[in-house]
Amino acid sequence: MKNPFSIPRPVPDGPWRWLVPVLLVLLFLLVLLWLPWQARQMEANERQEQLIADTLWVEQTLRFELARSEEALATLGADLSADAPPAPNALQARLAQMFKNGHELRRIAWLDADGKALALRGSELPESGLTQSSRDAQTMARSSRNGRYSDAYGAGHASGGLVDYHLPLYRHGQYAGSLLATYNLQTLLDENVPWWFAQDNALSLLDRDDRVVARRAAGGPGHGVYTHKRALDLPGAQIALATDSVKGAPKLLPNLLVGSVIVLALGLVISLAALWRHIARTIAAENALRQQMAFRTAMENSLLTGLRARDLEGRVTYVNPAFCRIVGHPAAELIGMKPPMPYWAPEAMADYEYRFRKVLEGQPVQQFETVFQRPDGTRVPVLVFEARLVDSNGRHTGWMSSILDITDRKRAEELARQQQEKLETSARLATMGEISSMLAHELNQPLAAISSYTAGALNVLERDGAGSGAGDGAGMLKRALEQANTQARRAGQIIRSVHEFVKKREPRRETVMVPQVIEGIRSLVDLQARQSYVTLQVNVAPGLPQVEADRVLLEQVLLNLTRNAIEAMQAIDPERRVLRIEAAHDVELGQVSVSVIDNGHGIPPEVAERLFSPFFSTKAEGMGMGLSICRTAIEFHGGTLTHADNPGGGTVFTFTLQQAQDKIAS
Ligand code: ADP
Repeated sequence: MKNPFSIPRPVPDGPWRWLVPVLLVLLFLLVLLWLPWQARQMEANERQEQLIADTLWVEQTLRFELARSEEALATLGADLSADAPPAPNALQARLAQMFKNGHELRRIAWLDADGKALALRGSELPESGLTQSSRDAQTMARSSRNGRYSDAYGAGHASGGLVDYHLPLYRHGQYAGSLLATYNLQTLLDENVPWWFAQDNALSLLDRDDRVVARRAAGGPGHGVYTHKRALDLPGAQIALATDSVKGAPKLLPNLLVGSVIVLALGLVISLAALWRHIARTIAAENALRQQMAFRTAMENSLLTGLRARDLEGRVTYVNPAFCRIVGHPAAELIGMKPPMPYWAPEAMADYEYRFRKVLEGQPVQQFETVFQRPDGTRVPVLVFEARLVDSNGRHTGWMSSILDITDRKRAEELARQQQEKLETSARLATMGEISSMLAHELNQPLAAISSYTAGALNVLERDGAGSGAGDGAGMLKRALEQANTQARRAGQIIRSVHEFVKKREPRRETVMVPQVIEGIRSLVDLQARQSYVTLQVNVAPGLPQVEADRVLLEQVLLNLTRNAIEAMQAIDPERRVLRIEAAHDVELGQVSVSVIDNGHGIPPEVAERLFSPFFSTKAEGMGMGLSICRTAIEFHGGTLTHADNPGGGTVFTFTLQQAQDKIAS
């Protein structure tokens, strides 16, 4: 079973408990730092892709412009190859129109099969003749019967590089010369690349040796970070279009995302450290609290004082083991309970209820003695102290009771009381002894004198011969003197017997069987009873235990009580004069009780008050010592002598004697 007073042990601390959260936080920080790098990477990719797309678009535009020019030249070439070529004026007009449509055109020349110019518009043919590459292009065009471009030339020239286009002409299948168109590549770029593109990118056209033949960079030179190069797909020529974005690589630090990530990461680390410290402090506080709790629990468990806490409604909220031991109920049964409590003894119910009412009213009785009842019915005398229960906010939440088991104290008190009674008894006996000695001493002399005088008087009467005749005065005197003598002797005997009795300070204790004592005096009592027409009945329970007692004393007590009983029945109808002697065994108390029961006149209250006082008697000739001596004798044996009314009229005198240890009469 779980001990309700124990506190749970904490799970032991281990480094592995920190490992998982620390790893998670590190991982989180890594992801946080990786994210902006990844974003930068994505941004760079996006820019690169955009540049490629834009470059492609520019290339298409340039290609389209040149293709349009090629088409116009092809139409012109077809007209020039016809049998009736256009008139020189008309040719010039058409050439002018073509220049107007394409600003990049630098020249158009109609050359015959020998390369001599038949017509020309634009700049003059160079005197040194066409470049080698242009001548190669011309040759290739003638052999392939298709228009061909030369390589770009004039790199580094201020007005921009040039490229030649040769379109071979055939008349009736015979080579009839060619059309030469020279394009200014710089103008081509300037005219066909939109301004916004030139703003963001530096564009250049490169020749076969990667020399710049034309360049456009409205936004300044490129950064060389985002670049793209693609060939202008011109038959026979190797010209490349290169773009270089003016944009640099996306910077990491000024980036808002990076900034916030760093701030967040720092915040996380700081708050984690703070949390760590807080947890460490909490754990330390918890440990201290646990130790305090363990100390408190150990203290409460070892306390002999019972502790009980109740809320304002009187419900039990806490009990310690000592309280459970006192009342004999487990804590689990008591906690949460409201009165009536299972340990309330029925005889004190009214007291409990009164005190509980006071508790509910907020004015409990602060200290009181009461008795609790254990489940087996035994009573526990307790001393209870009530105090207010106040929580950490100073709020009154209930009542705390300390309960002291005062069984031992009560026992000690009882012992002290018995000792006191014994002392009183001894004192009484001592007094009795003194009185009797004094009486014996004081009365013996006068009684002896009376005896002597009466004996002397009788002798005188005898000598004088008086009293021989009955009925005369001397005879009467003689009888009176005899009676006086007898009574004086009797008085002396009584005094001596009393003296003898009280002188015997140390009763002779022996193991006595009560039935035998009763048997011992039975004949004597019977004799007295018969004289007074009283019927004697003896009723002894079987198996009475033995007692430790002075047999003679017991006989005297019994004789005294029976004599009183017989005397009390003098006035009633002889048929009802029954004297009963009963002996019984009280197993629980370990006592033998003997009762002397009569049907006499009973004892009125005013007599009862003084019954056991020495020399108290209601009888004319009574000495009033009988009951006093009886009680002293019984108390000497550790017993009690009490009297009660007989329900059928009369009185019951009962004395008890402690049974001898482990000695039961067979
Ligand atoms: P005594 O018998 O000499 O009077 P006791 O001490 O024996 O002295 O008795 C004291 C008184 O108690 C008696 O005088 C009598 O009044 C009363 N008493 C004793 N025994 C009985 C009894 N059995 N019934 C009624 N009264 C009694």
